[in-house]
Amino acid sequence: MSIQIDGVNKFFGNFQALHDIDLHIPDGQLTALLGPSGSGKTTLLRIIAGLETAERGRILFHGEDVSALHVRDRNVGFVFQHYALFRHLTVAQNIAFGLESLPRGKRPSKTEIRETVERLLDMIQLPQLANRYPAQLSGGQKQRIALARALATKPRILLLDEPFGALDAKVRKDLRRWLRSLHDEFHFTSVFVTHDQEEALELSDQVVVMSEGRVEQVGEPTQLYAHPRSRFVFDFLGHVNVLEGEVLEGRLSQGSAWIALPMATDARTAQLYLRPHEVRLADEPTTEANLPFRVEAVSLIGAEVRVELKPDGWDSDRIWEVGISHAEFNQREPKRGDTCYALPRVGHLFAGETAGPVTLDWAGTGR
Ligand code: ATP
Repeated sequence: MSIQIDGVNKFFGNFQALHDIDLHIPDGQLTALLGPSGSGKTTLLRIIAGLETAERGRILFHGEDVSALHVRDRNVGFVFQHYALFRHLTVAQNIAFGLESLPRGKRPSKTEIRETVERLLDMIQLPQLANRYPAQLSGGQKQRIALARALATKPRILLLDEPFGALDAKVRKDLRRWLRSLHDEFHFTSVFVTHDQEEALELSDQVVVMSEGRVEQVGEPTQLYAHPRSRFVFDFLGHVNVLEGEVLEGRLSQGSAWIALPMATDARTAQLYLRPHEVRLADEPTTEANLPFRVEAVSLIGAEVRVELKPDGWDSDRIWEVGISHAEFNQREPKRGDTCYALPRVGHLFAGETAGPVTLDWAGTGR
C-alpha cells in the first residue's frame, strides 16, 4: 500500500507547521521521517493517520484519496514512544483489544482471535508472557507488545512515532534490528518518526529529512549520506568537520590554517565539509594543507578509534572528529594535548550560490 502526499500544508493558528509537502512513500518499504525537534515529523505522521487534518493538500493510499476518511476507517496501525498499553489488561488481552472492539459483523470468532494472538506472540518472540500485565514487563517487551497490538487488525499501513525513544541504547539497537527483520518478512508499509540519524540510516529503505516544516531531501540511506544536497542535511547526518574561510590564490584559509583547493572557484568565501573518515592525521603540515590541532579526546569504543581535535591557533567553533583504525591508533598513540595536523582525502565544498556541494579529491595530488 503506497502513500502519496500531495501539497500538504498545515497551520496551527498563524503558525505554519508544514509547507507544501509532496512525498511518495513506496509500498512495502520502511520510510523514516528524520529531523530535529519541531521540524514537523509528528504532524505529518498524524495527518497520514487521520488524527490531524491539513488545511491544503491530499493524502492518497494506493491512489485512493483518504483525506476525508476518519482515522478508524483508514486502517492504519500505530506505535507510539510511550507504549500506551492498557494497564488492567494482560498481554494477550492487549493484543486482542483491536479485534475484540470490531463491530459484530467484522469481529473474528473467539477461536480466531486466540489463534491470532498466539501467532503474534510467537512473531514478537514473547509467547511466555501472554498472561502478564504491563507493569510486569520491561520497556523493550512493552514496545514489542505495542507493535503486536498494532498489527493484530492487519493494518494496511503501520505508523511509528519515536517507537524506541524511551528505551536505553542497547535495547534500542536490538529492537530496531528486530523490527527490520520483521519488516523484511512481512513487508508492511511503515513510516516511522525519529530524530536519531543513526536509527534512520540503519533501519529504513528511504529517509525523508525534514527541517522547519519542509522536506529537505529524500533518498536511500547510503545515497543520502554520500550525497547530501544542502548544508543542513550534511550537518544532520552524522558528524561533519567544517573549514569555513576565504578563497585566495587557490587556497581556502581561516586565520593561519589553510588548505589548497584542487579546483578553481570564483567564490570569495567557501565552506569545506569533511566527514571523519575523509580526514587523515599527520605529524606535520604538507604542501596541500596546514590544519594544526590539539587532541582533545580519544574514544576507543567501536570499530574505529574516534579522535576529537580542537583547532590550534585558528578559529573554528567546532570540534573536529577523525576516525582512525585501531592499528593506526596503536602505532600513533595520540593522547590528549598532542599536536597533530589534519589532511583531507576527500571533501565537499559549498561555494557561492551553487545549489549543492562540489566533491573534492586530494588523492593523487602528490601525497
Ligand atoms: P519532536 O521531534 O520534538 O516531536 P516534530 O518534528 O515531531 O518534533 P511536530 O510535533 O510535528 O514536530 O511540531 C511541528 C511544529 O508544530 C512545532 O513547532 C510545534 O510546536 C507545532 N505544533 C505541533 N502541534 C501543535 C499544536 N497542537 N498546536 C500548536 N502548535 C503545534
